[in-house]
Amino acid sequence: MRPGISRTPSRTIALGVLLASLAGCAVPLTAVQQTRYTEAQAFVHDAARTYRTIPLVLHVGTCLEGAACVKDGHLWIVPQLFNRDYFLAVIAHEIGHVVLDHRVHTATVEMEANAKGVEILQRVRGLSQADALAMMYGYLAVSQDPRAQSPGHGSACAEINDLRRRFPAATWLTCMSR
Ligand SMILES: [Zn+2]
Repeated sequence: MRPGISRTPSRTIALGVLLASLAGCAVPLTAVQQTRYTEAQAFVHDAARTYRTIPLVLHVGTCLEGAACVKDGHLWIVPQLFNRDYFLAVIAHEIGHVVLDHRVHTATVEMEANAKGVEILQRVRGLSQADALAMMYGYLAVSQDPRAQSPGHGSACAEINDLRRRFPAATWLTCMSR
């Protein structure tokens, strides 16, 4: 589970998106969102092949909590996530949960998924470690607002500090607590 991009979309809107998904109605996407959705689909497909997981299917919708979640090979992303340059980092985090076979969401598990997500961005997208870390950091830095926290997650600061412990060469990984 990932924290929301922000808590701005109300639960009412989130529920509406879910209901639209359940009804089989296509969630309307902007041109940019559509392009990134296609990119994300390829990423999810390639990651499942690289890590030999069960096939992963990407959906645009919501899990009621957070901007993304994964369950039984189905990965759900809210359309607003595609407006963010770090959207692949969030998806990589969710794939990290699958690769690591996480069944529960604890602060430790979420941090492991961040680190695995960095590896996935490198192996599947061919990013350098620095670029992969920068993308994951971009997401965590934005989600530092405590209101953006999701169940299971520690604070974004704790997650950034954990990432720095795992990648000590990335001394630029800093937490700007508010
Ligand atoms: Zn998670």
